[in-house]
Amino acid sequence: MAALLGLAALWGCGTETVEPKPTRPVVDDPDPPYALWSKVEEFRQDLAAERSASDGGGTAYIRWEEGVAPVIRAGRAAGFDLRYQVGSEGIAVGGQIHFMPEPFWGWSVPQTVRPNRGGFTQVTTDAEGVDLEAFSVGTVTAGYLVIEVGGRDLREGEEVRLEYGMQGPGALVDRHAERGAHLWFYVDGDGDGVRGLIADSPTVDVVAGPAARVVATTPSVVRPGETFSLNIALLDMHGNDNVEFEGAVRIRNRPPTWDVPEQVHLTPEDGGRKRIEIRAESSGIVRLGVEVQIGETLVQAEAGPTWIDANAERVFWGDLHGHSNFSDGTGKPDDWFDYARHTAALDFVCLTDHDHFGVRFIDQSPDLWEELRSVARAHHAPGEFVTLPGYEWTSWVHGHRHVVFFDEDAELFSSVDERYQTPRQLWQALEGRDALTFAHHSAGDPIPTNWTFAPDPILEPVTEVMSVHGSSEAADSPRLVRNPRPGNFVRDVLDKGATLGFIGSGDSHDGHPGLPHLSPVYGWRPGRLDEDVDSMGTGGVAAVMGESLTRAELLTSLRARKCYATSGPRMILQATLSGYPVGASIPFADLGQNPSLDAVILGTVGLARLDLIRSGAVSSMPLQGERRFMGSLPLEGLQAGEYVYLRILQEDGSLAWTSPFFVE
Ligand SMILES: [Zn+2]
Ligand SMILES: [Zn+2]
Repeated sequence: MAALLGLAALWGCGTETVEPKPTRPVVDDPDPPYALWSKVEEFRQDLAAERSASDGGGTAYIRWEEGVAPVIRAGRAAGFDLRYQVGSEGIAVGGQIHFMPEPFWGWSVPQTVRPNRGGFTQVTTDAEGVDLEAFSVGTVTAGYLVIEVGGRDLREGEEVRLEYGMQGPGALVDRHAERGAHLWFYVDGDGDGVRGLIADSPTVDVVAGPAARVVATTPSVVRPGETFSLNIALLDMHGNDNVEFEGAVRIRNRPPTWDVPEQVHLTPEDGGRKRIEIRAESSGIVRLGVEVQIGETLVQAEAGPTWIDANAERVFWGDLHGHSNFSDGTGKPDDWFDYARHTAALDFVCLTDHDHFGVRFIDQSPDLWEELRSVARAHHAPGEFVTLPGYEWTSWVHGHRHVVFFDEDAELFSSVDERYQTPRQLWQALEGRDALTFAHHSAGDPIPTNWTFAPDPILEPVTEVMSVHGSSEAADSPRLVRNPRPGNFVRDVLDKGATLGFIGSGDSHDGHPGLPHLSPVYGWRPGRLDEDVDSMGTGGVAAVMGESLTRAELLTSLRARKCYATSGPRMILQATLSGYPVGASIPFADLGQNPSLDAVILGTVGLARLDLIRSGAVSSMPLQGERRFMGSLPLEGLQAGEYVYLRILQEDGSLAWTSPFFVE
């Protein structure tokens, strides 16, 4: 690797000796100042509440004209003729029926006041003597309709009709395509304020909008002579897959001596996705691209760099944090895994639905938890696509943590359960297992991490620095998490002596693991063709180094912190310090005379800035839009107790972080 002469002089201010921070003992604080105990109490009270036989009673269904559902497109308006049929226990006067389309993702909140506005719902019944009063509660993005029974009790078999979006502009549906989107019904049969969910509430399938974009993905590191895949996926404007498309996709930047087809043809059966196999005929860096004519528009995309090299460390890309409609996300788990593998071309994933948050609670539904595990198992294909069972321990006191299992022995320890309500109790429950935990959005909203519980040295080797919530790395990080809390940044925890590697993960709720940074919901803005790079939205992926793609090797690499984080794009970061790999704890004696950090950085677009973070001090070096950086960064006077890592900013606003090196 070529040394960068005179580089030390370029570094702003970080080359003076940095005093190592003393390791401060931490004491578990079971009640941090930002704890949302009210939320926990609310969940516990709801669990303890007595439900009458009529709560959650009855059935609901949709009546389609001509008996079949029309095609319902993501983000468009539709109308629904919904019927609720009363169950055997009836609904007493003062009882309520609640109707709630899936919250957050663009469904019009049902309302009964403005016929010329979205979501207008007419509520009627043929039951004589019954008066229904209907009104909306909640917010404009997550509201529901309450229908209160008056006059007399509703009796078994009687029906309430809800014409949702059948007048005026209709009801906007989810902007994310999903099979089985729920139109949820709850019933409080006796009017005591405690309601029950109708678990088999009606569902509709929402399909993608028209093809508007394309994504190309290749592996980051390939050996010479090896065959690798170029994955092509056409998407609609919101990143939904399975678009309707037929036509040619041209392949750009083909190395002249390689055998790569000039174009591939996609048939309607391909659903806008195609994978082609390419043999790497020579060493070097290749950046394959694709180009497709969609109507009047020429749409292009470039895969991240593919480094063909005999010695570079292989990189596997994954997302260890996402949600399906088993908690508060979009779409079925099966479709989440399918998108991860065949659309985003990820190598490994963990679908981490909330233990106790959303519409259904997996800690209260052994069937849902079992289904999550079995769907993950069904998609597991060692060597090609690794799935890991897991969940999100959603504590509103100590912050959210992900529990990821590397075998089939997954067990759910709920944050709402008093036996597992602190991080310490969770780690005790997991002791000795092939599992790991990691904290997320640790510096800010919606709940920071209680770092007074020092991360378990075996079970918690890494932390999520980046996701759709933004960065929790440090106050000086671009794309900060909302309402950041000084003292709660990952760098603050490193300053206290924690040894944590870095990963990014999506925490996307849009059903698009690996690609939330391409969603307008998460801030993606398209650039103009040939003029401007797209400005990337906020997301996160984890890059893990290793030679083969298995659960065991991923766990070994993550425990050794051989990983890095990006906000989505597949940049290549390879670094060593005195010959040690990224994430290493390096004995002081092994540093040598003039320690330096040797780095190779390959951007997906031009690199804008390189930051070296050394024990809390940041030295910045502007990079002039080159897509490649190779250099040796001197670390004079590096002391025991220090840590060092790199942060890279690209011209499209996206970010990457190496895991820190730690000096023992
Ligand atoms: Zn969370
Ligand atoms: Zn989450």
